[in-house]
Amino acid sequence: MTLRKSCIIEQYIMKKSTRTISGVTPIAVMSPPAGCPGKCIYCPDFNNTPRSYTPHSPAVMRAASRDYDAAEQVDLRLKILQDMGHPTDKVELIIMGGTFLATSISFQYRFIKDCFDALNGRVSESLSEAQGLNETAQHRAVGLCLETRPDVCGDAEIERMVAWGTTRVELGVQMLDDKIYEIVGRGHDIAAVADASRRLRNAGLKVHYHWMPGLPGSTPEHDLELTQEIFKNPDYRPDGLKLYPTMVVEGTILEEWHQNGRYQPYSDETMTGLIADMKKTIPGYVRISRVLRDIPAEYVSGGLKNSLRDGVRTRLEEEGLFCRCIRCREYGHRLKRKLKIGTPGLKRTDYQASAGHEIFLSFEDEYDTLFGLLRLRIQAEIPKQLADQYENVALIRELHVYGSELAIGDRNDESVQHRGYGRRLLSEAEQIAREEYGAQYAAILSGVGARSYYREQGYTLHSSYMVKTL
Ligand code: SF4
Ligand SMILES: [Zn+2]
Repeated sequence: MTLRKSCIIEQYIMKKSTRTISGVTPIAVMSPPAGCPGKCIYCPDFNNTPRSYTPHSPAVMRAASRDYDAAEQVDLRLKILQDMGHPTDKVELIIMGGTFLATSISFQYRFIKDCFDALNGRVSESLSEAQGLNETAQHRAVGLCLETRPDVCGDAEIERMVAWGTTRVELGVQMLDDKIYEIVGRGHDIAAVADASRRLRNAGLKVHYHWMPGLPGSTPEHDLELTQEIFKNPDYRPDGLKLYPTMVVEGTILEEWHQNGRYQPYSDETMTGLIADMKKTIPGYVRISRVLRDIPAEYVSGGLKNSLRDGVRTRLEEEGLFCRCIRCREYGHRLKRKLKIGTPGLKRTDYQASAGHEIFLSFEDEYDTLFGLLRLRIQAEIPKQLADQYENVALIRELHVYGSELAIGDRNDESVQHRGYGRRLLSEAEQIAREEYGAQYAAILSGVGARSYYREQGYTLHSSYMVKTL
């Protein structure tokens, strides 16, 4: 690469914040305060504030200023992002606040439809009409993410999520230990985590875990053991982890325990060392997406207050290591950190998860830079919505090509997003599914706004899934 070319790329990347560097712009939408069936002792519960958030969190203040109206929140966010110069043609909607799936079902459908209406810039008669319009809208929902409890994630909930065009589910797992669950009042057991993970994967969804080191009843050694356990044990093996080191938040039972000496948080140094050790065990198919909860320091009376990301990276670098998670290896992030970029080649990693065979295909260079990835799943079960018409179905749970976000239809030779990696990953996956596993069909639970891409690759829509005969 010439020096001039590399300068142009750097300027292009530096103009963007990390918000869009992974290729898709996230838009968080907060559902109104509605409580939660859970009674977790560390969870903030402020008046007129969605459960697990605090009144002055930026996302809460934005939502409250719009009366928690979904459409107005999306409108406001689009405007802010556009003013900041971010492309907004490919967005991931992230529904936050309490346990959305435990609210009234008619409210859930309305809330999701309002989000699509706002992206479309017009009000549709029905959710399916809004989704149809979104396929070619200016602002397309290529992803939809929901967070839920493992015990609020049964077949009925998954059926709704599939109908909405959900692509990723974040499960509040916290720590995989029934004794700790009992101490902190989680109200479910670890069997519920394995069960929800299996159901979600079998439906073709991506599964991320919220992970909380430092809970009462644990130790740094135990947290590390359990982190290793979720990747050793095929019942779990999530696609991503959101790390939330335990914080003592104002007004919680945990705060009382902290004050009366029953609970002692880890020191920042212990937590930094622990997270660095956890990162050493993370397989390359996992994305770590955050290392601090969105709770302003004014509400935190103990535990971690500031982000550990830099401290953790320094700790790893001192040992000559770096985090091998997807986020740290993404092309855009490595470019931003001025790390070397080499020549990508196709790589394949096979592993078992939730009674299925997972094949992680990726384009990576000799420095571990990740240019794109695809998750292929071979399983005996056929998603419910397809079972009446199809057999021998292979699932593609994710296809993502990394780079700074490019507007749809825009070509910039410096971006990896349009170099055909997506098509090559897809055809490789289809070939593996057909030749090695005898699959007759490939099915993808794509975001609504990505459906037109799959139509171009020969897929057609069947009950929320894009399906192709192999
Ligand atoms: S399930 Fe989540 S939102 Fe509900 S109380 Fe527990 S931590 Fe809070
Ligand atoms: Zn990482």
